[in-house]
Amino acid sequence: MLNIVLFGPPGAGKGTQSNILIERHGLVHLSTGDMLRAELASGSDLGKRVKAIMDAGKLVSDEIVIELIDKRLTANPDANGFIFDGFPRTIAQAEALDRLLTSRSLAISCMVRLKVPDEELVNRLVLRGKESGRSDDTETVIRNRISVYSEQTLPVADYYKKQNKLNEILGVGTVEEIASRVSEVLKAYA
Ligand code: ADP
Repeated sequence: MLNIVLFGPPGAGKGTQSNILIERHGLVHLSTGDMLRAELASGSDLGKRVKAIMDAGKLVSDEIVIELIDKRLTANPDANGFIFDGFPRTIAQAEALDRLLTSRSLAISCMVRLKVPDEELVNRLVLRGKESGRSDDTETVIRNRISVYSEQTLPVADYYKKQNKLNEILGVGTVEEIASRVSEVLKAYA
């Protein structure tokens, strides 16, 4: 089993690298951002509850995302492994994830952190907002998401560092260059 936490600020390229990892390692992709956007699109009660929070670039409650992850773990008992993308984003989520995995006799293999300078992130996301029409990809909300990341999410990297699971790579370059850096790191865990 290869269970990877793919970590980095909004716009770091986690989704793109996840797609490559899914193909190369046959992993199940668990993106809380995608799950929440699916709830919005379906018009579910949950979607209605989280819309304003997501549009402001704030974090939805730990309980909600933990439950979404719990369900997906249960739904995929035979997975080769999982890529956690956009989760955990708080220490409480990281602790809950460890509990969910331990109760299934699983564990996180490693965290791969993509490092990208802030100005590059803003440029990428403004461009993505124009192309994809994602409603939270406007400059004000983007800057808010980056500051929420720095304040609430960055401590999660330390959580995995203490467990000797943190690997940092530069998330700037071509998609293929970054994918090779990720592969290099993962060799130690294969
Ligand atoms: P980003 O590109 O900002 O990293 P995501 O697609 O991962 O975006 O998430 C979009 C939004 O969904 C976040 O700004 C937040 O409101 C919500 N969200 C996603 N994952 C989580 C999480 N683990 N905890 C709390 N909120 C989350």
